[in-house]
Amino acid sequence: MKSAHLMQPETTLSAVVQEQAVRASPSQERIPVAVAYGDGIGPEIMDAVMRVLDAAKAPLSYDTVEMGEKVYQRGFTSGITPETWATIRRNRVLLKAPITTPQGGGYKSLNVTLRKALNLYANVRPAKSYAPFVPARHPDMNVVIIRENEEDLYAGIEHQQTSEVVQVLKLVTRPGCERIIRYAFEYARAYGRHKVTCMTKDNIMKLTDGLFHRVFNEVATEYPDIQAEHQIIDIGAARLADTPERFDVIVTLNLYGDILSDIAAQIAGSVGLAGSANIGSQAAMFEAVHGSAPDIAGKGIANPSGLLVAATQMLVHVGAPDTAELIKNAWLRTIEDGIHTADVYDPKTSRVRATTQEFAEAVIARLGEEPRHLPPVRYRAGGVNVTPSPVARSEKQLVGVDVFLEWNGANRSSNLLGQMLEEAAPEPWLLKMITNRGVKVYPDGLPETFCTDHWRCRFMPVEGGAVNFDQVLALLAALHGAGMDVIKTEHLYTFDGRPGYSLGQGE
Ligand code: NAD
Repeated sequence: MKSAHLMQPETTLSAVVQEQAVRASPSQERIPVAVAYGDGIGPEIMDAVMRVLDAAKAPLSYDTVEMGEKVYQRGFTSGITPETWATIRRNRVLLKAPITTPQGGGYKSLNVTLRKALNLYANVRPAKSYAPFVPARHPDMNVVIIRENEEDLYAGIEHQQTSEVVQVLKLVTRPGCERIIRYAFEYARAYGRHKVTCMTKDNIMKLTDGLFHRVFNEVATEYPDIQAEHQIIDIGAARLADTPERFDVIVTLNLYGDILSDIAAQIAGSVGLAGSANIGSQAAMFEAVHGSAPDIAGKGIANPSGLLVAATQMLVHVGAPDTAELIKNAWLRTIEDGIHTADVYDPKTSRVRATTQEFAEAVIARLGEEPRHLPPVRYRAGGVNVTPSPVARSEKQLVGVDVFLEWNGANRSSNLLGQMLEEAAPEPWLLKMITNRGVKVYPDGLPETFCTDHWRCRFMPVEGGAVNFDQVLALLAALHGAGMDVIKTEHLYTFDGRPGYSLGQGE
């Protein structure tokens, strides 16, 4: 029976904070954000950013929260106190300066903790060149990487299954794909971008990456104003490194996005100028891409640009695009005017070597001005809103089982293993194939194929069609009785008649 099932209605953060902003305007209330001053250069750059936000009359109020080095040292292994959690959960928006991760084991990454606990599913990292004002190898580069932040190989579900073999589970969900892909298209609209490129490896991972690609194709039809394309991740990454100017917005799975966003930041030549946003349906976190730079902490020379750019991303997100525009255009003008902190200072392109605070003053002095050479930014009111669509349930039928064995007998002869399994399998089971590391080794395997101690044995009913769970249990009992070391099983299902499993290589 097919049944329709609606996903839980989801209030988007943008919607929540915009509602607050709408409510706020008559009484001059401000949108509350939590602010973490961080470690190393964190307090200096946050102070500079706060001065710019105040001068621009950003419609925000601030709750300072404590996290990072000192909190780790007080014995909180996550680097965050219960009071801070409560404040972030109340405010739903966090502007965070970089923190120092203590050396040695036992400490959890604060960023990973925040991302997972607050369900921050989208990581948004613009990578842009500001040539000729800041020298860059790719002067026309202006790309935004939108990375799925929670799924894929980062679920951290790993097992050792045999003496020789370990595995990790790559989990990709339809709601997870849809949410991030919609976010990418909505982002493109909100920020006046024209093209979204999806990158996957679905020529190899037809189910997991294939789902991401398929959902991308479906969602793209709802955005006819945005050009949509797909590239296989390997050639896509090569093109990004070679001709980044051909990309606009890139949306991809977690691991690929992790790698791509670092490549993009590096080749843009502006890591110190880059901001990053982690967006969830209930909360969001904005920060610079760089770390706490302990080598220059306390010297007053750090570049506050990355955190300032992140703050403008935050302003757009909370429904204050005018203030974001005001600050970003003043900042672009400052960069154009050659007022640069030491990290980007170049005698050929810079005019003034500014301290952190001098740089902030220069931005403040330019509020209301626009860049003359670089394109000024224009942000759309309304931010990025993602409304998930209903998910239809499929009709699921059990049609077989993959039984995984650890087996190390008789020179690892797949023919011998195949014969043993055929003899042991009760009715209605038929051994369809055995694979080793995904390669078919029975029947008709090649002697050259290298085999480990980890065998995937596919059983399906002789007549085809459905089987039941009791029959699976009977098969497992028979294999166990025949002395086989069963290490795990995967059920083979069809969903609405389509196989929900991959074929073995060579099958
Ligand atoms: P880093 O980004 O802090 O520093 C790398 C180099 O870039 C240093 O030479 C530094 O002086 C320079 N630099 C960085 N930001 C700068 C700025 N705004 N202005 C001028 N120069 C700048 O990276 P790292 O040294 O590998 O890490 C230092 C600490 O930061 C570590 O404890 C690391 O765990 C932490 N970290 C935190 C975050 C975060 O909180 N999001 C991100 C990355 C690293």
